[in-house]
Amino acid sequence: MLTIRNFIDGRYVDPASGQWFDKIDPATNRAVARVPDGDNRDVDAAVGAAARAFPRWSRTPAAERSRLLLAVADKIDAHLERLALAESVDGGKPLGRARAAEIPRAAANFRYFAAAIQHWHSEAYRTDQLALNYTLRQPRGVAGLLSPWNLPLYLFTWKVAPALATGNTVVAKPSELTPTTAHLLTEICQEVGLPPGVFNVVHGYGHKVGAALVAHPAVPTISFTGGTTVGAEIAKVAAPLFKKLTLELGGKNPNIIFADADQDEVLQTSLRSAFDNQGEICLCGSRIFVEESAYQRFVEAFTASAKRLKVGDPLDPTVDQGALISHRHRDRVLSYIRLAKEEGGRVLCGGAPPSPAQLGERCKDGAFLEPAVVVDLDVYCRVNQEEIFGPVVTITPFRTEEEVIDYANAAPFGLSASLWTRDLGRAHRVAERLECGTVWVNCWLLRDLRTPFGGVKQSGVGREGGDEALRFFTEPKTVCVKYAADLS
Ligand code: NAD
Repeated sequence: MLTIRNFIDGRYVDPASGQWFDKIDPATNRAVARVPDGDNRDVDAAVGAAARAFPRWSRTPAAERSRLLLAVADKIDAHLERLALAESVDGGKPLGRARAAEIPRAAANFRYFAAAIQHWHSEAYRTDQLALNYTLRQPRGVAGLLSPWNLPLYLFTWKVAPALATGNTVVAKPSELTPTTAHLLTEICQEVGLPPGVFNVVHGYGHKVGAALVAHPAVPTISFTGGTTVGAEIAKVAAPLFKKLTLELGGKNPNIIFADADQDEVLQTSLRSAFDNQGEICLCGSRIFVEESAYQRFVEAFTASAKRLKVGDPLDPTVDQGALISHRHRDRVLSYIRLAKEEGGRVLCGGAPPSPAQLGERCKDGAFLEPAVVVDLDVYCRVNQEEIFGPVVTITPFRTEEEVIDYANAAPFGLSASLWTRDLGRAHRVAERLECGTVWVNCWLLRDLRTPFGGVKQSGVGREGGDEALRFFTEPKTVCVKYAADLS
């Protein structure tokens, strides 16, 4: 069994508590790794190392930082198979998905910010013929980075890469449920010669390691991706300490389908946006709204396609859906299936664990769930308002553009939306009025790393991605140089 250790000051160290917990593979329900049960003492040590490394790293030329980050990206590519397997075993996700999408994206994150930092520039403003103002964008010090379990290395590196590129040093805490690829990334950073203390990883539970990192007085920058409840807790702790904070939180995203859209493409992409990664993506379109005239046909075709999705062993290349992250999470998702029925919904398919015979010997005890399609629910019921974060989708008909905009904006979240139409004017009109951070028109999850990414309402505050990330991890300082006598 793999033993994961904290990575502090360029060395692997045991947790101060001397305690470890087991990492369970949710597809088999067996322990696959020992994870440090870290606490505030480990966080103190890591923050100390990061603070000591900061003066030198922040003055390292951008070209050298860029070279090291590119080397990390190359090593991620070189270790693709190992990383993808670790990601699949940690999270229960299909190996093919980790291999084709998630690990390559982790390498892309490093490449993108390695290039971006070499092209970045700050502003200058001339005040008449009197003075010149320019802006320094300086790294802020030790960045505390906290990430969730659903896209582990992909989201972890989405924070680590810009923080390091801009000259900050890092103390990062991956999810306790998916620590392995963050651990493997520390090996890669060591191999490429990242200086000790620049990148530190402390493993353990959120209420211990995460809370200590957020509260640490020597960590002025916190970037968090996770659930809305935890995000609110973090905001409470960080606010009186005046920390700079981004919160990337939950989603309950609408997928709006007008009757004039290309219905074949709508069907294929909506299936992905509903159930990719077992519905455990913050951007999943879990509320589907279909224009009345296309509703019946869509519901039939969508349900038939959902029934055909193969649920099972994540290592089987023919499988579409793996295991949910844990039995606890599956039970929570199942509670929403029960709630959907209590709220008057009809479950057209799925919503129950597959039979052990279907799963086979290796996976018979895993946390699997057949993808569920639910209809006949009110837009304001709990199932349509709360984030389920699993393979459960609701479908609701609508009559007019106005009505569907109201439906889409009815949830307390505002992360993303998809909208399907051939009418260009309507696409622009609706996109403008949707309350969310990203609108995909005739597509889903088409990402360009330069674009701002984040949410509104309960989906969070702040933006990641592109220049937004470079700005977040730096502090602007205006320098005003007067070079002439006052103008009369
Ligand atoms: P979570 O909030 O439980 O945990 C996220 C991270 O925070 C973990 O590393 C956890 O250990 C840590 N943590 C937990 N309690 C903490 C505390 N009190 N103080 C500090 N850190 C703490 O989220 P999760 O269950 O790992 O992930 C699922 C959630 O993440 C979903 O709500 C999903 O929508 C959201 N998510 C959002 C985005 C986005 O970009 N907006 C992306 C992916 C996932």
